[in-house]
Amino acid sequence: MNAQKLSKRLEAVAKFVPTGAVMADIGSDHAYLPCYLIHKGTASYAIAGEVVKGPYESAVGQVQKENLTEKITVRLADGLAAIEEADHVDTVTIAGMGGPLIVSILEKHPEKLQGVTRLILQPNIHAKVIREWALAHQWAILDEEILEEDDKIYEILVLQRGQMELSTAEILFGPKLSLRKSPAFTKKWLREKDNWQRVLQSIEGAEQTPEIEEKRAELTALIHLVEGVL
Ligand code: SAM
Repeated sequence: MNAQKLSKRLEAVAKFVPTGAVMADIGSDHAYLPCYLIHKGTASYAIAGEVVKGPYESAVGQVQKENLTEKITVRLADGLAAIEEADHVDTVTIAGMGGPLIVSILEKHPEKLQGVTRLILQPNIHAKVIREWALAHQWAILDEEILEEDDKIYEILVLQRGQMELSTAEILFGPKLSLRKSPAFTKKWLREKDNWQRVLQSIEGAEQTPEIEEKRAELTALIHLVEGVL
């Protein structure tokens, strides 16, 4: 992967960035995504935010190497603190982290999202917590994607401002993804179902404590939900 040829995962994230966007890529690491989007002419300006010094320096080096210092500003900052009002950022991408970390980044500096109209979020795990956050903060799902790369399955959530209603199943599986039922979607949830069934079997003979009963009920409900969607 480099700034010209992204991974399949980051390419899918890039696809959702609107033409002309002023974007901030938070947790940018090597800054491949903003470099790619500026080269392609999709983004008009980009901020690459990184909290760790090593990846920050590699982003700075990459932007210099690509001769993009006039179009990309790299900032060493925690999450959305990388965004300044004068940037007029309208699109934020956060990719390659767990859902809970993405949510904690969104919650830490909510004022930085004031001018933002699109969030493109790619959790490696626990996309559910992002849908819950969106529901609670008046963001609606514009689109979703699920894809497989190197035997890992990734989800991408594209949010715009607005209200939505989601059922328990839609929060877990994604409203668009569960309608489309792509092969990656089916593979992911069959895997999860197998895991839940394995855990359920392993506690079958266990002592009947309230905790075990609660776990059993939780796993049974999840298996029931997944059977309803597949
Ligand atoms: N976004 C790139 C991608 O999807 O390929 C890099 C993903 S890398 C696994 C996650 C990056 O996010 C790391 O470079 C890490 O230092 C950075 N990161 C984690 N927490 C962060 C935060 N609160 N603010 C900014 N960057 C963060």
